[in-house]
Amino acid sequence: ASRGLLVKDRQALEIAQDADVIILDKTGTLTTGEFKVLDVKLLNDKYTKEEIIALLAGIEGGSSHPIAQSIISFAEQQDIRPASFDSIDVISGSGVEGKAGGHRYQLISQKAYGRNLDMDIPKGATLSVLVENDDAIGAVALGDELKPTSKELIKALKKNNIQPIMATGDNEKAAQGVAEVLGIEYRSNQSPQDKYELVKTLKDEGKKVIMVGDGVNDAPSLALADVGIAIGAGTQV
Ligand code: ADP
Ligand code: MG
Repeated sequence: ASRGLLVKDRQALEIAQDADVIILDKTGTLTTGEFKVLDVKLLNDKYTKEEIIALLAGIEGGSSHPIAQSIISFAEQQDIRPASFDSIDVISGSGVEGKAGGHRYQLISQKAYGRNLDMDIPKGATLSVLVENDDAIGAVALGDELKPTSKELIKALKKNNIQPIMATGDNEKAAQGVAEVLGIEYRSNQSPQDKYELVKTLKDEGKKVIMVGDGVNDAPSLALADVGIAIGAGTQV
C-alpha cells in the first residue's frame, strides 16, 4: 500500500507466478504519457494556425486522454482561448468528437482517419488529425518518452521467461520506434476490440496472460486477461 499498489483479487497474485505472456499498452504504460506538442499543421487555408489550436484545445476539454492535457497546456502557453463546443464525446481508442458552430469535429488517430496525409511526420511521433465534417483541416504531432523503468522491466520479464508484447492504439511508426528501443514484439493500430482479441487468442492457446494498461481503451482486455493490472488513469475503469 505504501508503494501505491492495491490488490483487489488475492488469486491474481498466485496466477501471476505462472504467467506465460504479458501484454503491455504503450501510451501511459511503457511511456510517460506526458506528451509534448511537436508540430501543428494546417491542411487547408480556411483556418489560421491560432484557430486550429483553439479548436484542438476546445475539443480536448472533453477528454481525459494524456494527449488532451498536453494540447490544452500548449494553447495556454500561447494565450489561445479554447473554442467552445456544444457537446463532446470520447471515441474509445481513437480520439474525441464534438459539435461547435454547426460543424461536427473529430480529433482522431491516423488509423481512424483512414486516408493518407500529404505531410511530414516527426520521427516516432503520434499524429492526431482534426476533421471538420469530413475534411481534414489540421493535424497535431505529439511525442512522449519512455518511462525510465521500462527497459529494466522488459529485461526482468524476459529473464523470468514471461514473453512481453506491446499492444498500442498508436500508429506503426511510433510503435516501431518504442518497440525497437525496448527489444519487444509489438502490435500497432490496435482498437480496444483488437487488444481484447489478442488476449483471447493467447488464452485459447492455453497461455496464462497478464494485461497491463492505463486507459479506457484497455478496459475490455484488462477484464479478460488472467491477471489485469491497471495503472494510472486505468484504475478508474
Ligand atoms: P495506446 O493504446 O497506446 O494507449 P490510445 O488507444 O489511447 O493509445 O490512442 C491511440 C491513438 O488515438 C493515439 O495515438 C492518438 O493518435 C489518438 N487519440 C486517442 N485519444 C485522443 C485524444 N484525446 N486526442 C487526440 N488523439 C487521440
Ligand atoms: Mg494507454
